[in-house]
Amino acid sequence: MQTINAVTTLTVEGEVAVLSLNSPPVNSLSQPVREGILNGMRAANADPAVKAIVLICEGRTFIAGAEITELGKPPKAPSLAEGQDAIESSSKPVIAAIHGTSLGGGFEVALCCHYRVAVPSAKCGLPEVHLGLLPGAGGTQRLPRVVGPEKALEMVTGGTHVGAKPALAMGLFDELVEEGKLREGAIAFARKVLAENRPLRKVRDLDDKVAPARGKPEIFAEFRKANARKFRGFLAPEYNIRCIEAAVNQPFDEGMKTERKLFLELLGGSQSAAQRHVFFAERQVWKIPDIPEDIALVPVKKVGIIGAGTMGGGIAMNFANVGIPVTLVETQQAALDRGLSVVRKNYENTAKRGRLKPEDVETRMGLLTGSLDLNALADCDMVIEAIFENMAIKKEVFAKLDKICKPGAVLATNTSALNVNEIASATSRPEAVVGMHFFSPANVMRLLEVVRGEKTSKQMVATAMAIGKKIGKIGALSGVCPGFIGNRILAARTAQAQAMVLEGAMPWDIDKVLYDFGLPMGPFAMSDLAGLDIGWSKENSKSSTIREVLCEMDRRGQKTGAGYYDYDEQRNAKPSEVTRKIIGEFMAKKGVTPRVITEQEILERCIYAMINEGAKILDEGIAIRSSDIDIVWINGYGFPVYRGGPMFYGDTVGLATVVAKLKEYGPKMGPTFAMSPLLEKLAAEGKRFTEWKR
Ligand code: NAD
Repeated sequence: MQTINAVTTLTVEGEVAVLSLNSPPVNSLSQPVREGILNGMRAANADPAVKAIVLICEGRTFIAGAEITELGKPPKAPSLAEGQDAIESSSKPVIAAIHGTSLGGGFEVALCCHYRVAVPSAKCGLPEVHLGLLPGAGGTQRLPRVVGPEKALEMVTGGTHVGAKPALAMGLFDELVEEGKLREGAIAFARKVLAENRPLRKVRDLDDKVAPARGKPEIFAEFRKANARKFRGFLAPEYNIRCIEAAVNQPFDEGMKTERKLFLELLGGSQSAAQRHVFFAERQVWKIPDIPEDIALVPVKKVGIIGAGTMGGGIAMNFANVGIPVTLVETQQAALDRGLSVVRKNYENTAKRGRLKPEDVETRMGLLTGSLDLNALADCDMVIEAIFENMAIKKEVFAKLDKICKPGAVLATNTSALNVNEIASATSRPEAVVGMHFFSPANVMRLLEVVRGEKTSKQMVATAMAIGKKIGKIGALSGVCPGFIGNRILAARTAQAQAMVLEGAMPWDIDKVLYDFGLPMGPFAMSDLAGLDIGWSKENSKSSTIREVLCEMDRRGQKTGAGYYDYDEQRNAKPSEVTRKIIGEFMAKKGVTPRVITEQEILERCIYAMINEGAKILDEGIAIRSSDIDIVWINGYGFPVYRGGPMFYGDTVGLATVVAKLKEYGPKMGPTFAMSPLLEKLAAEGKRFTEWKR
């Protein structure tokens, strides 16, 4: 065995040399790995006894991808391209032996090999699009030459992982070998290549899969059209598509230049920076500085949910989906039946769309038990309360739970904005009470805000986070304050949106600006969707706001066919003359002359007010770090990933600009607005939220 460098060895077995990489944890393409590949290929090619070369990795996976921490830093030699060239231009056949996940740069290395064998559990793919990038090491040029442009388009724009079987069928893998016997299998395959005198198959020279699409722009136009909604606002999918087009229409070396140029554009742009930020933020969000990662959790084998309404039913589905039995408690049989039937309908619809087996509908429904008696929750390990948003009723229920639930059980509330400390005070065990704030629809939305009360124990916080992970959510920790992280920031934005409506902007003007910014909808469309009457009651309504007047006219949102907008049968929204008139009357009463509000002002007042509120949330210790706030707004409210969340967006714009603009708008920001001292301080110091630490 020859040592090439600290992470690479070369072993010659008869005619076959095995070049083995061992750079834990995932053999990413760090400098030593690149050097190992280059020098290893040179050594194997220089050895006259060697007739074929197997490239294999130790540990849990084949090269899993680029070294993300090296992205954006000055390159260190040798480049990946040199290593790839050494493989592809080797005069002896090179066989990639793949296990684990060969993704991104790792798979681009494999595509330079003349043949690829893999074990059945192996996966491959080019997921760069998720980081706002494209496979910049020839992946976009080689992939379509193996699988054809249609499949390549799906793979690069979806960033999907492809299993070994489909990869074999597509020609990405040449042979599957027995699980656990990759090395032997790959050597045997290499011997077969030699015995059969198979050619040195260079992917760059293949043409049969791309030739039929040459000069057919409609293939790409159709793909763009079919995915327009999914790709809205993102640059990376479009750039990936252009690269596949180049692979079809340009000679290989030209295509490589196109790929390089587009890759560098993405790498230097704000979208990829934002998407890379989100990638790390999603990993950070689980870490809570004062809670050890190995803290003992409450084993959650049975869950109780109180209230089978909009939220309770959706929350229950999350647990049934992972096989955890749930007891749902309601006050009335009719409400219980209604709740369970909504859940069933949801499952049946999923099954109809082919995303759930019909028998699984029954299995999951079988995990749900209804009851009208809170005592049925006595043996639950975790209880989640999802009843009306009313402090008195919630306290009454928690006082009862305190008596009923077994010691050590997690007592959680799904409240959107109420004080978790006060709810906890209704029990004799406030340490067991934690907020688990799901978002609607709870079976779909990924965000779970875990709310840590003053007395909540570390174990309960850790258990709520862990169960969130188990049911496929992304958990973000929040302290107690009105609205927690997400809704508190939403309120700051809403205040600006409503103020601007009374200065001359129409609701649809504001909605359009925020939609164009990349949000799924603006605040008024969102109110119409959720229902304008949340928290509204006829008895207390005094025609004092536009919303109250709309509700009084029974314009309570989409469900009544009208709200801020008018809706047709298909729920298509149209600006409403009624709303326009009401707004006009309010302005006249206040003696306001409408002014033209620019799109820039709409955007800045809405988004900068959010950033300002986020800074307060950080300053008060409600959020641990600014990236957690980004996670909340991306996963709970659809803030565009390619802007990295509100706080990262603030960093991108520059905090000094944000502060200067907020000062410029000054009194227009209204009485509810106050500048965050932290924001001002960071701006003055020329700092970013991302570098701020408590
Ligand atoms: P909902 O009105 O749809 O459902 C509440 C259910 O609780 C009703 O079916 C009611 O019969 C039942 N209920 C009331 N008192 C009860 C009691 N004492 N025992 C058992 N059942 C009782 O309300 P929802 O929208 O599901 O909201 C529930 C909670 O979730 C609220 O605290 C709300 O703030 C919060 N929340 C709602 C949303 C949302 O978008 N709807 C999002 C996040 C959080």
